[in-house]
Amino acid sequence: MDFASDNTAGASQAILEAILAANEGLLPAYGTDPLTAKALRLLEDIFEHPITGFLVSTGTAANALALGAISPPFGAIFCHSQAHVMDDECGAPEMFTGGAKLVGIPGWAGKIAPADLKPVLADFPRGLEKQVQPATLSLSQVTECGTIYTCDQLAELTTLAHEAGLMVHMDGARFANALVSLPCSPAEMSWKAGIDVLSFGATKNGALACEAVLFFDSARAASLPFQRKRSGHTLSKGRYLGAQMTAYLENGHWLGLATAANGHARRLAQGLGQIPSIRLPWPCEANEIFAILPHAIDTALKEAGAHYYPWKFHASSAASPPPAADEVFVRLVTSFATLPSDVDRFLALVRSGGHKPI
Ligand SMILES: *Cc1c(COP(=O)(O)O)cnc(C)c1O
Repeated sequence: MDFASDNTAGASQAILEAILAANEGLLPAYGTDPLTAKALRLLEDIFEHPITGFLVSTGTAANALALGAISPPFGAIFCHSQAHVMDDECGAPEMFTGGAKLVGIPGWAGKIAPADLKPVLADFPRGLEKQVQPATLSLSQVTECGTIYTCDQLAELTTLAHEAGLMVHMDGARFANALVSLPCSPAEMSWKAGIDVLSFGATKNGALACEAVLFFDSARAASLPFQRKRSGHTLSKGRYLGAQMTAYLENGHWLGLATAANGHARRLAQGLGQIPSIRLPWPCEANEIFAILPHAIDTALKEAGAHYYPWKFHASSAASPPPAADEVFVRLVTSFATLPSDVDRFLALVRSGGHKPI
């Protein structure tokens, strides 16, 4: 019963087989191979737009390189106050931008509300020499709370940002999980909604180690080849990144993996939602569930071998009251590799309320 993260899963069989198939023969190095070219062509087809794209092996590299390409050292990058770029990347965005300042905006369920973005933009006027200059809005889709922005919500935020002269980045570490939950296309959830640069994740959804930085305006990508190389993120045997991304995208594999992951989460969330002693502070919209559990249930689950992480409760993010003294706040994540029987067993333990059968 492993619900710790979607990167506790291995890689999908099809992607591993593609890596093995890519092992044949001699191919050009440093991303000039035909597999990488094919992956980038597939991305252009899927996004219905010309793309200048770069494959890297971690999401942190993708985010930091993307932000570094569009934010000057004296820039401000606005993001949700719990964003991965803010809390979980060891200052990589600050390092790759040469010192830009991340400005966190709190908001319900991991989402930035337009009404909260406006005053922050007003606080950072352009041209005021003593302050960092507004440069970038970074939005996470799926958010760190497992929620998603609708395409209209994205467009509203990116319009405000563009009107203020900002560029917009999307941290799409779980882009596929968001996409399959929405009635929209990859184009509608990205450039049509005003996203300028996208970190397109694949690792959490079944790749071995592969993410892409996608620029919808090639002029913005000019510094990327150099930044990627000098930061040590240009793989010499780039074919293996190309192979992963190609297999991920071909035949809708990525959508199938994300649909499976989200389906497990939905079932788990529905089951938890039926237990009166359990509260979900916001809805499960992709493949992550956040829940407030009684201690007794948490203990019984742990004793039965369930694995998941306690989570920090931010009052500004939740509509429900904070965990009481006899409760814990936890995060549960499903993946394409989640076993339906593990969901069943977990829910059965929860239903027994932490009381051991006699
Ligand atoms: C996992 C994750 C990343 C990428 O993390 P890496 O561990 O560097 O691959 C980026 N953004 C979000 C929201 C994530 O959940």
